[in-house]
Amino acid sequence: MAKLILQRGREGRVLAGHPWIYRGQVAEIVGDWRADEAITVLDSDGQLVGRGFYNPRPSLCCRLLTRQDEPLDRAFFRRRIEAALAYRRQTGLAGPAFRWVWSEADDLAGLVVDRYGPVAVLQCLTLGMSFIRPWLLEAVKELGGVEHTYLRDDPTAARLEGFEPELRWADVPGPAEVQITEDPCRFLVPIERGQKTGFYLDQRENRARVATYARGRRLLDAFAYAGAFAGHALVAGAAAAVCLDSSAEAMALARRTLDLNGVAARADCREVNAFDELRRLERAGERFGLVVLDPPPFTRRKDALEAAARGYKEINLRGLRLLEPGGILATFTCSYHVSQALFEDICQAAAADAGVSVRVLAALTQARDHPVLLTVPETRYLKGLLLERV
Ligand code: SAH
Repeated sequence: MAKLILQRGREGRVLAGHPWIYRGQVAEIVGDWRADEAITVLDSDGQLVGRGFYNPRPSLCCRLLTRQDEPLDRAFFRRRIEAALAYRRQTGLAGPAFRWVWSEADDLAGLVVDRYGPVAVLQCLTLGMSFIRPWLLEAVKELGGVEHTYLRDDPTAARLEGFEPELRWADVPGPAEVQITEDPCRFLVPIERGQKTGFYLDQRENRARVATYARGRRLLDAFAYAGAFAGHALVAGAAAAVCLDSSAEAMALARRTLDLNGVAARADCREVNAFDELRRLERAGERFGLVVLDPPPFTRRKDALEAAARGYKEINLRGLRLLEPGGILATFTCSYHVSQALFEDICQAAAADAGVSVRVLAALTQARDHPVLLTVPETRYLKGLLLERV
């Protein structure tokens, strides 16, 4: 087995518990590495740090999977996938749809598994994981009572890591669309054609929370995808909802979803650029009692943070202006590089420009089936604020 030796003076973060090793932290690779075989990581004194897959292509060249002296074999991955399921079962999160494996947060860096009823969607994010896919598939099938598994690799990650992304059923083709329950709503998950792995499971708890403010209010669900925030709010008694998304497919999905829940008559789904439509609604003097802003990540890179911050400020400024007094804004960022503190600063600046005073009702984060590891800050990516215009 090949060995990766860390460079003295550059190993602090890894030794403190972070699983990522960048090329610049590596002193030496000893022996012949193989993409499908773990590499043993040693510190600069030659002590064992752990094991993980190595890939010289990306600058993030190794992610530790264990800190024990144990083989990374079929049984190892099965145990880890089982442990991830046990956590969700113990915490009552293993419902009809849930995130079963969340990469680093489940000590399975490079693997994401989402569960939608009888279907599992499996996503490999590293070259190593793509090589051991048959083991992963076997474990998922056996442990979770899964009938069909869809392979849905992230093309960006695959390009970085240098493998062909899979986008197909693992063996027996399953349903192109699955219906799931997110109490009290039902949602349609397009397994083959949807965004992400088909659905935004990470907002589950926030949708429920926002719905508690919905009764009698008019909702604006900007960046709505399948209209899941609107669905919950309308079922909870919202007077009306306007959903915005630039994707025609998303808006078609939202219409069908809202229909499935018997609330389509109170909803208006518009295929528009939310930036333009927010401005237009403001000019038209429209007002809402509840506004949800759940945009895609405006940046995935640290060096584009300033432009991203301007984007967040712009939509929050519009969102706040559209709120009637006493109205509620649920606003989110899923850009890892935007910290909770920075997001609060952005929203505060937006409130100042909008000339409104807001009360913080809650700080929001991702659903608990997307756990956060304190030692791996990158596992916390979704941040939000629940604000009330006072
Ligand atoms: N709120 C959703 C998830 C939204 S994901 C939920 O709870 O399920 C972000 C959405 O923003 C995607 O559906 C994407 O199509 C949409 N989007 C991206 N850029 C946009 C833009 N400029 N205007 C409107 N929608 C946009």
